[in-house]
Amino acid sequence: MPIIIASSNGSVGIDAGWEMLTRGGSALDAVEAATRLVEDNPDDHSVGYSGYPNLLGEVELDASIMDGSTLRAGAVGGLRGYRYALSVARRVMEELPHVLLVGEGAARFAAEIGMQPENLLTPEAEQTWRAGIEGHATLDWAGISELVAQLLKRSAQLTRDPEHATGTVNFIAQDAAGHIASAVSTSGWAWKYPGRLGDSSIIGAGNYADSRYGAAACTGWGEAAIRAGTARSVVLYLKAGYTLETACREAFGDLQPIMRGTPNAMSLVALDRHGNHCAFSTSEDRTYVYRTDGMASAVELPRLVV
Ligand code: ASP
Repeated sequence: MPIIIASSNGSVGIDAGWEMLTRGGSALDAVEAATRLVEDNPDDHSVGYSGYPNLLGEVELDASIMDGSTLRAGAVGGLRGYRYALSVARRVMEELPHVLLVGEGAARFAAEIGMQPENLLTPEAEQTWRAGIEGHATLDWAGISELVAQLLKRSAQLTRDPEHATGTVNFIAQDAAGHIASAVSTSGWAWKYPGRLGDSSIIGAGNYADSRYGAAACTGWGEAAIRAGTARSVVLYLKAGYTLETACREAFGDLQPIMRGTPNAMSLVALDRHGNHCAFSTSEDRTYVYRTDGMASAVELPRLVV
């Protein structure tokens, strides 16, 4: 019965999540353990340490976790200076009467629970950031005048390199007791406007789990997932009796008017309570990974294209 699925960049963490499940760990423990390894991965510039920064060169992380058996959730947005955004989100869920902390409050809470502060911007990510903003605007990095603020706004709208400017990790696990948990962690859209929150920290948009039906988690154009409430919509379509694949197709149908004409991509992974899994993307050649009983290691599968 246990199973864990992830976006393809979750392959560095999925086996650790699986081990957790086979040792009797909860779905929550599994998705957290798996996510931390992705947040550690210096080669992944879309999550945690070495994530690509915002327009001003500051790494701002978004993350959320949901316990599908209690419908408790925790999230952080615009977290600076702490790589384990998902663990901070979990502690928000477990220790505060809140769901979402942002910015300075999120960093303050991370410090209070003993997380180690650090500079998340690696020289490599910094170099790419400098190259990425080049040509979009002439910016006076020393002092942000009114004019520069306007240019910043404009160039935030010009962050258009889907291969390099976006990325997120999704994990969904079901444990031996049938509990489902989902986790999402990201440094968001590269060169985003400072303070921009994506879908990854918005429960219902980029992440939703309900052990009675299933779970879904998104990557891609966060603004679209926020506008359509995508992750929650998949779960509601499951509740309405659709198969997993049809539930996902319905959710993409809801996204259609938002996606029309945009160069941005949307993708999701989904799991139902019976252990069925699938993943969809508006882009070709995207994959996801999963591991369940009887498998020696995680297997990569193609996503269905919508
Ligand atoms: N969904 C993320 C965001 O909008 C980015 C991504 O997955 O590409 O922040």
